[in-house]
Amino acid sequence: MAVTLSVGIDLGTTFSAAAYVDAHGATQMIRNAHGEILTPSVAIFEQDEIIVGHEAWRAGEFSGGRVAETVKRDMGRTHYRHRIHGELIPPEVIQGCILRKLRSDIVNAIGPDFQVVITVPAYFDEPRRKATADAGLMSGLDILDIVNEPTAAALAFGERLGYLDPKGAPRDALTLLVYDLGGGTFDVTVIHLAPGDIRTLATDGDAELGGYNWDERLVEHVLSQFQDRYPQCPKPDNASQLRLRRLAEEAKQTLSARSQTTIVYNHSGHALVLPVTRDEFESMTADLVERTSFTTRQSLRAAGLLWNDINRLLLVGGSTRMPMIRSMLENLSGMTPDIHVNPDEAVARGAAIFARHLLDRQGTGGALPNLKITDVNAHSLGIEGINQKMRRKENVILIPRNTPLPKEIRRNFVTREFNQQSVQVQLLEGESKQPEHCTVLANAAIRHLPPGLKKGTKIEVWYRYESNGRLSVHARVPGIGKEAKIELERIQGLSDETVHQWKKIICRDGGFNEFEEALLELLEAGEDDEEDGDIPEDPPPSKREISLKPATAHGAPLAASEALKQKLSPLEGRTASSASAQASSDALQRQRIHADPPDNGATRTPQTVTGRRPLERTIFVIGYIVSSLLGLAIGYYILCWIRPEANFLHLDLPGIGP
Ligand code: ADP
Ligand code: MG
Repeated sequence: MAVTLSVGIDLGTTFSAAAYVDAHGATQMIRNAHGEILTPSVAIFEQDEIIVGHEAWRAGEFSGGRVAETVKRDMGRTHYRHRIHGELIPPEVIQGCILRKLRSDIVNAIGPDFQVVITVPAYFDEPRRKATADAGLMSGLDILDIVNEPTAAALAFGERLGYLDPKGAPRDALTLLVYDLGGGTFDVTVIHLAPGDIRTLATDGDAELGGYNWDERLVEHVLSQFQDRYPQCPKPDNASQLRLRRLAEEAKQTLSARSQTTIVYNHSGHALVLPVTRDEFESMTADLVERTSFTTRQSLRAAGLLWNDINRLLLVGGSTRMPMIRSMLENLSGMTPDIHVNPDEAVARGAAIFARHLLDRQGTGGALPNLKITDVNAHSLGIEGINQKMRRKENVILIPRNTPLPKEIRRNFVTREFNQQSVQVQLLEGESKQPEHCTVLANAAIRHLPPGLKKGTKIEVWYRYESNGRLSVHARVPGIGKEAKIELERIQGLSDETVHQWKKIICRDGGFNEFEEALLELLEAGEDDEEDGDIPEDPPPSKREISLKPATAHGAPLAASEALKQKLSPLEGRTASSASAQASSDALQRQRIHADPPDNGATRTPQTVTGRRPLERTIFVIGYIVSSLLGLAIGYYILCWIRPEANFLHLDLPGIGP
């Protein structure tokens, strides 16, 4: 009988890698068609085929408008920031194509019978996690779960040191700090490792910081030198910029091994030969290193630890090869980084171990049935409430960041009217009090409450972060014993139906021709959605809005009490159906195609900008002008009083004589 193998995929911003657990329970890296462990996460969309990996990376500069790279940075957004053949493509679709290629390499290496765990940065928010899971589905892979990259790295480290061997000799518990600086993301995580028990204590990071930013600094340096030397030369086009980025990355890597390198950049018939020293490079990127140092210190503080409490410092990600990173960490911690696991391989190996663990737990037996893995949430989960005192919207945190997962929290609300039929709660992720600085996860719309509910009926709402950081919400009306149906209306992300549609296209293994058809259909659907007002919006003025009250003094948090807006929808009085809504499976998730991609990862939408804002702004501006003028007048008056000769305007100021 064929054994299902467990595979881990490290889906990186710049490089991806895969590993599996062999018959002896040891992890092995899977090599791609080139015999290499790392596959560049780059795709070129030709009309009749999609090329992924080294060929795409090399051909990239000659493939303007067809090449997609560093797509991971856009996960959770509506579209990949560069157009492909003039079209805006969802980033998870491109990641799906990259995973499709990895899948074919895995099949070639170990056969078709395997299940997969894909890794995500610990700092990824919920929409980015969902997008990654969707990419996996679209690629035709059999996905077991997603897991955090630092947790996977710690598992690989645990494997190497014998912490995962149930029959192994007893070992002391260790506290690890995993510093992961890859191509496009940065994570720092504090992990407790005991035999058979891996627990994340705190995690922090930056989904927009990685080796790419170091490359950019070199690119800017070259461009400014080029501009100084050849001021008349036209600005580089996309292909030329891409070529320069490749040169910069090469130079950066050389500077990890040598103290000096030379960049030769040709553009529009002019050549720039630019020597760059390691010292120069380090000073032009010192602020980036400091950013990671700051986050590292913060993460340690969040875990309530000092450097003395850390037993090992694990380096993950290609960018940790830069000497400036190692020396910063050595200065900061007084420790020498651990080199037990290759920084390029740790994540994929750990993901494969995690996949094995999941398969074992499903009852197929194996070596790791008792392994306990606990992660935390990197971002707080909140709901939008209204602070009655300040009369403004506020993020009311329900599950604070760094809470061990899974975590479920219940909030009770009471209806404010007889026959109330629905409730709508906006779910937020982020630390800020101001909702506009948080990510809107979804509108949790509790609909179809049973007809004839008395005013003051209690409704219980559970918010749950699964152990993989995915969100689910469900609600219940206790007296009736029934669950209320919750619709998670996502602001970003693809619907199940769309994911399925893309899966069919990607699994055809064709080219961009296949995409065009699908995009046309999706665009049409998107336009229909807009006409139908399919995106959750503030309710039209004709709809009544009433607040919910907390059921008990400890029910809804203070700011949310009186606050959670309930939007009455014109629902006919149907009985509440029993259903809990899992974010990934809710068929009512909404998808929308925008004309332009949003400009950053903050997935705030205009819907939270209230009508009061322009008025507030006007009052603020008038107040500012009046107080400035008053300040000036008082200052001038005091000056004239102290130094009467300063009354150069010759005003008749009371009490100030010549
Ligand atoms: P990701 O997981 O985000 O794809 P990786 O861990 O594969 O990232 O690391 C890729 C990054 O590491 C790239 O930015 C690459 O330029 C950088 N990198 C790889 N080797 C070196 C090196 N020797 N010196 C400096 N940077 C390196
Ligand atoms: Mg990585």
